[in-house]
Amino acid sequence: MHELSLCRSLCTSLEHEVQTRQLKQVLSVQLAVGSLSCLEPQALEFCFSAMAKPSALEGCKLTIRRQPGNATCRQCASCYPLENWLDPCPACGALERDLQGGDEVLIEQMEAY
Ligand SMILES: [Zn+2]
Repeated sequence: MHELSLCRSLCTSLEHEVQTRQLKQVLSVQLAVGSLSCLEPQALEFCFSAMAKPSALEGCKLTIRRQPGNATCRQCASCYPLENWLDPCPACGALERDLQGGDEVLIEQMEAY
């Protein structure tokens, strides 16, 4: 359950934006969540709506876009998107790989006034 701490830092950075830009209300936020981050989108939404009130974030719509990681196979050097930690290389079936991204959480868009 690291959704809770993630939501807390998400709210903190959004509230920071609200203050520095003197916004009244945040309408929507889009997050890019890496598939390998072990975050449950539903748990994230739940934590966020519970934490977002009462503030400029109240009623804000949270959209979560899942983003696969990129892996490079150590056996055959092919690159492939990685949705799941246990997925083998589609070309040769090996599990050893180097990972580029896939476990990050980014604020992609924010709509506010
Ligand atoms: Zn391979």
